[in-house]
Amino acid sequence: MEKKQFQAESKRLLEMMINSIYSKREVFLRELISNASDAIDKIYYKALTDDSLTFDKDSYYIKVAANKDNRTLKITDTGIGMTKEELENNLGIIAKSGSLAFKSENEAKDGHDIIGQFGVGFYAAFMVADVVTVISKALGSDQAYKWESEGADGYTIVPVEKESVGTEITLKIKENTEDENYDEYLEEYRLKQIIKKYSDFIRYPIKMDVIQRSPKEDSETEFDEYTEEQTLNSMVPIWKKNKSELTDEDYANFYNEKHYGFDKPLKHLHISVDGTIRYNAILFIPENIPFDYYSKEFEKGLELYSNGVLIMNKSADLLPDHFSFVKGMVDSEDLSLNISREMLQHDRQLKLIAKNINKKIKSELQSLLKNEREQYVKFFNSFGRQLKFGVYNDFGANKETLQDLLMFYSSKDKQLVTLDEYVSRMPEEQKYIYYASGDSVERIEKLPQTELVADKGYEILYFTEEIDEFAIKMLMNYKEKEFKSVASGDLGIEDEDQAKDDSKESEHKELFEAMKEILAGKVKDVRVSKRLKSHPVCLSSEGDISIEMEKVLSAMPD
Ligand code: ADP
Ligand code: MG
Repeated sequence: MEKKQFQAESKRLLEMMINSIYSKREVFLRELISNASDAIDKIYYKALTDDSLTFDKDSYYIKVAANKDNRTLKITDTGIGMTKEELENNLGIIAKSGSLAFKSENEAKDGHDIIGQFGVGFYAAFMVADVVTVISKALGSDQAYKWESEGADGYTIVPVEKESVGTEITLKIKENTEDENYDEYLEEYRLKQIIKKYSDFIRYPIKMDVIQRSPKEDSETEFDEYTEEQTLNSMVPIWKKNKSELTDEDYANFYNEKHYGFDKPLKHLHISVDGTIRYNAILFIPENIPFDYYSKEFEKGLELYSNGVLIMNKSADLLPDHFSFVKGMVDSEDLSLNISREMLQHDRQLKLIAKNINKKIKSELQSLLKNEREQYVKFFNSFGRQLKFGVYNDFGANKETLQDLLMFYSSKDKQLVTLDEYVSRMPEEQKYIYYASGDSVERIEKLPQTELVADKGYEILYFTEEIDEFAIKMLMNYKEKEFKSVASGDLGIEDEDQAKDDSKESEHKELFEAMKEILAGKVKDVRVSKRLKSHPVCLSSEGDISIEMEKVLSAMPD
């Protein structure tokens, strides 16, 4: 039987593939630059084992140049180059990755910095270009070759002159259409922007000739124009630098550059983990609440990098909801990316990192609370509500993580205190952690229900936010002490005048009956209270739901 090859309309297939892989056109530049970086890495790895080669970092770079008149964008590198065979194999066969092969051949030399692996990134160029021309001279070869293609129709290869080793890729940028703008890929500011966004931490300089203007002598309106070669990327990512070399200001600058917020960060964390999972992270606790923080529009997440290349702008899986206010980035070389390199194949690594990050943020907040209380209170005033939501939403599953970070206003200190502070100074006979709910501190102070507890000298926590009581209902207790509303029926306070009160109940039986009749349907019962000192009456509830909670619950939409 004759075996037939599948036929494919290759031009359409290539278009379908490219457009289904990448969500944004601008990533073509990320792909070409990472190939260039890989090519330089390969020379570097070769030099490690080949004594005839020296790797002098200064002579290795990537250059980007746009020419509006010709509509060309050129990306040049001084990397290892490609032979004729390599041009045919690596660029002529879709899904063939010379870099992946290089990594497995050179396993021993630790090639984990090399980015390429899928063998499709190069074709991203066809998202913005009609014609792609590659001129390359391989290391150790005398002859350079020109590979040229207009897409999947095929390609040509011819020998050409090229002096130095390396690769030069020229894209003939498409003409604008009614719906699509391609001109932007010839604009200096736009190219700078894309490079900064995706390739800022490529290890080699990405250079561009930038037009500069300076005022002509004796003139305010005329300018001299000249070009200046600029390096556009920061190269060494701040998270790979030594913590001891960095100042608070460096971190604050990074925060601003990355547009994490318009404020200054209240605190930063610089994490380097090198265990079963390896990652670096720089995280920030902002000082102010982002304007949309407590709204539906707010999106939590950290930037995710794989080996210095941006993969995702906001990876939500890296942050638990209760720490959604944290900003920053994570870089890991252990991620298995999917083909577009915009998503992950497995979330196992991500889960491990997320778990680790959760722990680190918690201990950072704990040490802030312990060592810089004023700062912590500032933090808590901004984001404390989110921690309480965290306790409530996860049905107390984050109790261990969050309970020590909570603060409530105290009747004793007249300021925010922690549960630990409350419990540690409870008199021995005090059974419960008492709280009172109300709209404001002033209002709660006037509540008749607080009198007996306060008279006993017991501290009361004032719950002024709706979420407070819901959150502690999830906690149930703290250090084995249950929470008790001062408005609840049984306060657990021994009362010496028990007998006298009972007699009062029967003495005024008729009065109570009459009051109950008048308030029928509004209250369940009218009783003598043992807790009032200066107020004649108070409202109290039975069971778990306090009056304040009832108010919130009945205001909720069904
Ligand atoms: P990947 O980078 O995932 O391997 P690409 O489609 O981006 O896939 O590139 C395919 C292959 O072409 C690379 O693996 C590499 O071998 C080769 N290549 C691409 N660009 C260059 C370059 N600038 N210099 C040397 N080799 C390159
Ligand atoms: Mg690639």
